[in-house]
Amino acid sequence: MQGGARGDFNPRPPFQRSSMQTPPPPTLTPNSIIRAAPAPWWHRQRKALLLKRRYADQFEKSGNAKVAKQLRLCSESEHLVACTSCGGSWWVLYRCGLRCCPICSWREAKKRQEYLAQICKQLGKPKHIVLTIPRWMGEGPEGIKCLRDAIAKLRRRELFKNCRGGALTIEVLPKPDGWHIHAHLLVDAPYMPWKQLQNEWSDIIGVKDPHVSIQAAECDAARRYVAKYAGKSIVAEVGDPAIVRWFEAIKGKRMWGTFGAWFNFKLVEQPRNDGKPCFVPGCLLCGAQKTVVPAESLPNILGKGWRDWCTGALSKMDWSRPLPEVISFLSREEP
Ligand SMILES: [Zn+2]
Ligand SMILES: [Zn+2]
Repeated sequence: MQGGARGDFNPRPPFQRSSMQTPPPPTLTPNSIIRAAPAPWWHRQRKALLLKRRYADQFEKSGNAKVAKQLRLCSESEHLVACTSCGGSWWVLYRCGLRCCPICSWREAKKRQEYLAQICKQLGKPKHIVLTIPRWMGEGPEGIKCLRDAIAKLRRRELFKNCRGGALTIEVLPKPDGWHIHAHLLVDAPYMPWKQLQNEWSDIIGVKDPHVSIQAAECDAARRYVAKYAGKSIVAEVGDPAIVRWFEAIKGKRMWGTFGAWFNFKLVEQPRNDGKPCFVPGCLLCGAQKTVVPAESLPNILGKGWRDWCTGALSKMDWSRPLPEVISFLSREEP
């Protein structure tokens, strides 16, 4: 716990308040620059946190209390985790991991963008293709299937004969009159005339002059740009009124993936040279691997007698606690 929120609990000494003089501007020395702590993450993610709360309200209204609760707790509470090997426990920031969560989906998007950037880096002739279908009036999931099937057909056409594969992301946005559905393809393919691509797409989806675009992305900056663009999160764009409908439509659907030569491409972890581990190597206390579980799953894992097993914080049976600094920051007026 550090940063701005602390100020609430530590009122300034009175002599500072009564002083009418303007204090001289602080001199920035290399030391004071180092000491200036960056704003805590909840300051930077205020908008996303507030949107998350509004989305939670929408799920509550629609009768999905479970998702509403997960969204409310996400990033605003800590959960106790326990190691089933040594019995130790500690608190971690709770993340819901839901696709409809503005915070979690943004974090997922960062990983996806990095993954796509690594693929793009290695494509010989990278092309970014956007394929759109007209406003979809039917159910969302059918629209997604229709787009997927059409892309599969396109990939079998002569135009794609020299395409070595790549990655694909699908974006679905609810509109008042239906769904806006399109796909981004990052492919390794030689020159592809736009008109020919449009003709093929038109023929497959049975629509005259559909919206398609193709751009080459050969320099490093362009590769990074298209990876970022194709991998972005659209959760914030969905908006409060449509979030429940959108979440239902994408349920169980894979919205991105790789194909051809890039099918199942694995990211090789970049070794870090700052000496810090980039992931928690199993249990913080005993070092055992794959033994750390959320405390609430202990009864299921341990079965009968699980209570006898609980010591320390675990035995309080209170396995979730709010993060007061985040909650008080969010209840304040817009800074
Ligand atoms: Zn979340
Ligand atoms: Zn342990």
